[in-house]
Amino acid sequence: MAFSIHGIYVSKGIALGKSFLWKKNQPNIEKKHLADDLIDDEIERFNQALNKTQNDLHAIALKLPSSTTADVSEFVDAHLLMLKDFNLSSIPIKLIRENKCNAEWALNCQRKVLLSIFDEMDDAYLKTRKDDVNHVINSVQQNLHDGSNDYNDFYDVNLKHKIVIAEDFSPAEIILMHQQGIGAFVTEYGGYISHTAILARSFGLPAIVGVKNICHYIGDNERLVVDGFNGVVFSETDELVENYFINRINEEKLVKQTLAKLVDSTISTQDAVSVKLNANIEGLNDISSVKKLNADGVGLYRTEFLFLNRQDIPGEEEQVENYVAAITALAGKPLVLRTLDIGGDKTITPDYIESTANPALSLRAIRLCLNDLKYFLPQIRAILRASATGPVQLMVPMLTNLNELKRVNVIIDQAKSELSSEGYEFDEKIKIGGMIEVPAAALLADAFAKELDFLSIGTNDLIQYTLAIDRMDDKVNYLYDPSHPAVLQLIKKIIDAGEKHQIPVTMCGDMAGDVDYIRLLLGLGLREFSMSPSSLLEVKQIVKNTDISKIKSICHDLLTTYEHDKIRQSINGLNS
Ligand code: PEP
Ligand code: MG
Repeated sequence: MAFSIHGIYVSKGIALGKSFLWKKNQPNIEKKHLADDLIDDEIERFNQALNKTQNDLHAIALKLPSSTTADVSEFVDAHLLMLKDFNLSSIPIKLIRENKCNAEWALNCQRKVLLSIFDEMDDAYLKTRKDDVNHVINSVQQNLHDGSNDYNDFYDVNLKHKIVIAEDFSPAEIILMHQQGIGAFVTEYGGYISHTAILARSFGLPAIVGVKNICHYIGDNERLVVDGFNGVVFSETDELVENYFINRINEEKLVKQTLAKLVDSTISTQDAVSVKLNANIEGLNDISSVKKLNADGVGLYRTEFLFLNRQDIPGEEEQVENYVAAITALAGKPLVLRTLDIGGDKTITPDYIESTANPALSLRAIRLCLNDLKYFLPQIRAILRASATGPVQLMVPMLTNLNELKRVNVIIDQAKSELSSEGYEFDEKIKIGGMIEVPAAALLADAFAKELDFLSIGTNDLIQYTLAIDRMDDKVNYLYDPSHPAVLQLIKKIIDAGEKHQIPVTMCGDMAGDVDYIRLLLGLGLREFSMSPSSLLEVKQIVKNTDISKIKSICHDLLTTYEHDKIRQSINGLNS
């Protein structure tokens, strides 16, 4: 029977093929009481299972093709580290001894302890690391059970072009299935930022997660279509529908080929207006794509990612090392280092920040930094020291009033004079920019532009604060609207302020990489964009096909169009 079922798309693309239902046989774990003289043997059995799991992972690492991205090899390293960690390598042994129990039971007890720690975390990203703990422990359990891991089974079945379905997959399994040439995968569980999803994206493998009960609805060898653009799985469709998707696949191939040709081209519009396209990064690993895509530079380095996943604050030396590594890798392309933006939805170790009823409106970003210089001063010193080695700009997030900026400048001056007397070199004239992402700052853009070297529009927060919608709350997601006239008027105000004071204005929020709004932003006068690297070539194509002189007046009219349907109509008109 033909039907369709929906989930969350985590990796774009379309695949047609036969289903393969992956049934995992997780061993049923029971507690067994062991006599004293069997304890050492049990510990030996546990150590062997641990070693076998490590060897399995090493074998996977060796099979990775040289073209494999850093994401993939890093996850193998992360799982190997987990296996060596005290929590998995020593505590279960202690539990076997203390409880005189079987290794499976001891490992399961430790699993519960570790998972409860993850459950208490507020950070959505860290919560997804729970999957890794489960995957690693499942592998050890499998090796305890019968000495063989599910991994081996992947070589026994022909998965080529298959659409593989399961409750969940570990990242290791995704690598193996990719090597077997699967067409796509669909799971009942999982989230957009799980390692499994990250791998799917880096392999370009269409994937949908969170398809509830799919293992019950679909059996083996059913003809399926996976639409990874919309998160829909179609079962037993007719020829007409299949032909539609075959055409879509061919169209996608052509789009990719066309986009790849744009890598080396200069970026200017049809009417010869030059435009800068920068990339946003969260860490050093992202720089390879910045270079591959030939972005103009990095318009936003979210340095707070260096502060996540750890119990301590990265010190000045560690930060200098990280920033210098970024500058070196960028080989002359400019780097905008945004100072720490934690708080709000980006929580780190609990003792850093006291919990509060409304974190988005609380001590976040520059407020937190000015409240406690232990975060800020070492970072400012590190950024300044790094500036001696290449083109660096410093950007301050979430400014609300000019007084904050004055205090930032005092701290920068203090750091400069400290570094001078300590004999460090730095760029005396380092450019200082501010993120305009609070409506109050947008309304005062003129005053900020007078005091700063550049402005960067953070639309993610500007929209959140202007429209009073929590970025994290899916109940008000429907109100998220970059083309709301209030948002557009604020954006225009910021662009105009930059023009008046002759300083660059860039945009680094998601709107800057959203193909729907590029022409509108160009028409409003924006000339610098910074976005996720994955959007860069598509945006470049739009810029090159735009004649600003022809769309300017429509864009300006939009500032005073208040009806949603009319706004949408005009934007569609701009993009057609
Ligand atoms: C923004 O708010 O638009 C922005 C770029 O910063 P972040 O998403 O990190 O808050
Ligand atoms: Mg922001």
